[in-house]
Amino acid sequence: MTVNELLRELHRLHLKIHDLREEAERAPRRLRAAQAKIDAAAKVLQDHLEAIKRLKINIHQKETTIKEHEAKIERYQSQMKAITKDKEYQALRHEIENERMAIAVHEDQILDLMLQVEQKQAQTPALEGEVQKAKAEYAKVEAEVGGRRDELYAQLAQAEAELKQIEQHLNGDLRKAYERLVKAHGGAEALCELRDGYCSGCQTQATLQQRLDAAANRIVLCNSCGKLLYLSTG
Ligand SMILES: [Zn+2]
Repeated sequence: MTVNELLRELHRLHLKIHDLREEAERAPRRLRAAQAKIDAAAKVLQDHLEAIKRLKINIHQKETTIKEHEAKIERYQSQMKAITKDKEYQALRHEIENERMAIAVHEDQILDLMLQVEQKQAQTPALEGEVQKAKAEYAKVEAEVGGRRDELYAQLAQAEAELKQIEQHLNGDLRKAYERLVKAHGGAEALCELRDGYCSGCQTQATLQQRLDAAANRIVLCNSCGKLLYLSTG
């Protein structure tokens, strides 16, 4: 195996391992994001149902108040039967009139509140649908992640084993440079392709001597980023 072939293969495996690890880390993030959507939709629905509950309590309170006013009217009416003086009679009639007006106000308010309940209840199915949609989306993500998990870890293990095997071909100064750079930058960032005379990592142009060295399968480090350069072909 030439130096270029060796470094090219090592880089390919490091990049593959990097991508597989990233995918493995992405799975829990995707699940958390899907769960957050369920929680958000459930919260909207819960707030909505509580608002309906509050409106109904308000209606009930107003109905109770109306009953109190009606009880007062009944009391005044029975008092009226015992009264002989016209002035007192008129006063009670006035009181009854006031109670009836109060009842009318509460009845109007109840109608308005009932209309609000109706409007809100009409929105409930759509909000429940949002929760169901979020749950279905979570199940989909879970199935995708779960179905891929075994395959993903098998591929990762295989790539890591291949890498170890290829690394055994490294000798002397090449091994030293490689190990130092992998330690400093991670495998995927330790190597760069020398593409059309430029370092693929930092876009610095290689010297003619470096290009000749690379073509001759000698060790070449980028003058700018210091990484190991290899030719993609040859
Ligand atoms: Zn560079």
